[in-house]
Amino acid sequence: MVPAGICSSAFARAFAELAADRWGFLVILGAFRGNRRFQDWERSAGFTPSVLANRLRHMVEVGVLRQRPIDGNGDRLEYRLTDKGLGLHAWALAVWRWERDWHEIASVADDGRFPVLVHRSCEAETTPQFVCDCCAAPLEPEAVRWRAGPGLDDHNYLAGLTSRRAESSASDARPKYAGGAFDLIGDRWTLALTVALFQGIRRYEALRTEVGVSTNILALRLKRMVEDGLIARERQGEHSERFEYTLTDKGRALYPVVLGLTQWADRWLSGKDGIRFRMHHMGCGADCRTEVRCDVCAQPLTPHDVAVRLVSGKELERARRRRKKNI
Ligand SMILES: [Zn+2]
Ligand SMILES: [Zn+2]
Repeated sequence: MVPAGICSSAFARAFAELAADRWGFLVILGAFRGNRRFQDWERSAGFTPSVLANRLRHMVEVGVLRQRPIDGNGDRLEYRLTDKGLGLHAWALAVWRWERDWHEIASVADDGRFPVLVHRSCEAETTPQFVCDCCAAPLEPEAVRWRAGPGLDDHNYLAGLTSRRAESSASDARPKYAGGAFDLIGDRWTLALTVALFQGIRRYEALRTEVGVSTNILALRLKRMVEDGLIARERQGEHSERFEYTLTDKGRALYPVVLGLTQWADRWLSGKDGIRFRMHHMGCGADCRTEVRCDVCAQPLTPHDVAVRLVSGKELERARRRRKKNI
C-alpha cells in the first residue's frame, strides 16, 4: 500500500498537469501520430474548434507542445511535441497497443485505411513490449512494488480536476477516433480505480477509501467498468452479500498505460524533493524504470524511430491473424 494514496501518486500528478480528460489525451496522441496543424486534429478526432483550441493552448502552456512557424512563414503556425511531450512516448505506445488489442482500431484516413505501427530500424510492424530496464523481463503488476520516494506529498491532485471535467462533459461532442477507448483511458476515476486494483485492493469500501471518491461516482464507474469488460464483480462466498472486483485481461492490459504516465510524471514533474515513488522489480531485485522495446528486433523503440503506416482493412485483418497464430 502506498502511504499517501492514489490521488497523490505520480499518475495523479500527471493527470493534473495535463488537466486531463479524453480530449486532452487525444491532442497528445494525435501529436504522436503526426498531427501538426489545427485541422489535422479537427479532421481526425471529431473535436469542436473551441474544445480543440482550449486543449492545444493548455498543452503549450504546460510545455508539452510548442508552436512554430510553418516554412519560415510567421503567419501560419504548427504544433510540435517538446522534449517534455516526447517523454509521453511510452504512454502513447501503451495506448496504441491497448487499443489495437482490445478495441476496434478506427480508420483515420479519408479513404478508409487504418494505422499500423512500424519500427523504422527493422522495418517490421511492431508490438511494443514494456520491460524492466535492468533485466528486460516484461513488467507485470504482481512483480512490481512501489516505495515512497522523497518527493511524495499528500496533495489530492485528482480532486482539483472537478471543474474541468464538468466543462468537458458538457460538450455533446464525442471523439470520432478510438471508439470509446478514451472514455476509459481519459477518465481519472476509472484509471485511479484501475491503479487501486493493480495494488490488490478489491472491495468496494476499500476502493472508496483508497481513491477518496463519493459513493455515487464509485458505483457508476464500477458499473461502467464491468460493462466495458475491464473488471469482473464476484461474490465473496456463496451466501455472502459482499462483492469483490478483479481486473480482467482487458483491464490488466492497461498496466503499461499507468506505467507510462507514472514514469513521465516522475521525470518531468518532480519538484526539488525528487521522485514520488521508486519502482522495484521483484523479478531481478533492482529499482528500475520502464523501457519500451520492439518485439521483432528487441531494440528500444524511440519516438523518432517509429512511424505510422496506413494499410487497407484487408491488410490489417491479415496482420491480426498472423499475430493470433504466433501467440
Ligand atoms: Zn528486472
Ligand atoms: Zn524492431
